[in-house]
Amino acid sequence: MDYRTGRLQDMAAVTELAHRHGALMVWDLCHSVGALPVRLDDCQADFAVGCTYKYLNGGPGSPAFLYAATRHLEAARQPLTGWFGHADPFAFEPGYRPAEGIGRFLTGTPPLLAFAGLQAALDIWQDVDLDALRAKSLALSTLFLELTAPLGLASATPVEPDLRGSQISLRHPQAYQVMQALIARGVIGDYRAPDVLRFGFTPLYLSHTDVWDAAEALREVLDSGSWRDPRFAAQAGAVT
Ligand SMILES: *Cc1c(COP(=O)(O)O)cnc(C)c1O
Repeated sequence: MDYRTGRLQDMAAVTELAHRHGALMVWDLCHSVGALPVRLDDCQADFAVGCTYKYLNGGPGSPAFLYAATRHLEAARQPLTGWFGHADPFAFEPGYRPAEGIGRFLTGTPPLLAFAGLQAALDIWQDVDLDALRAKSLALSTLFLELTAPLGLASATPVEPDLRGSQISLRHPQAYQVMQALIARGVIGDYRAPDVLRFGFTPLYLSHTDVWDAAEALREVLDSGSWRDPRFAAQAGAVT
């Protein structure tokens, strides 16, 4: 999924196109994992990477993940070698021998405190039906599109449900200020240059009422012009 527009890619078709031209396909799943079902084996993906702190709810600093198709395991080399990826870590050999299989992608000692947060999240995911998750995600984002349509902001996200992930990006020429005004009201989305208000819908814990309240807050911020307050114009971070 494109992190700016929220447009969903046809993973099987794009992977097939890459293969036809002799390339390998590496998917970045940061905005897909935990937002919708992803079937890497079915679409013949070669590799994939992703983070676990977004839709998976692993918390700040939770570890990244990596996928490698079984057919690549033997030939694939891990450039960030560490003792956890060694074939015999306690042999303390002078050279490096990668472990068999996916284990060769491990690096050094894992950050266990970060894993503990992720483990708690994954315990919950164990019981989640991903098709039901996708249905709720689309129900939430469709509701948000409907409620905000009268505001007249263009959607950078495709309105067709099959073409979007679990976010809605709306355009406003002063998107930074508008988002700051929303955050001050407790509706936390983000801004992406040059004019995108980005709203993520986390189906596991966001309710339809939350979406209703967020749309209402956006309407009030725009109708009242409260976003024009100079305190919302100060660019605080590095986000662009
Ligand atoms: C969040 C995100 C990442 C992850 O970056 P980290 O360095 O793991 O925080 C990668 N790609 C995209 C498109 C993202 O949105």
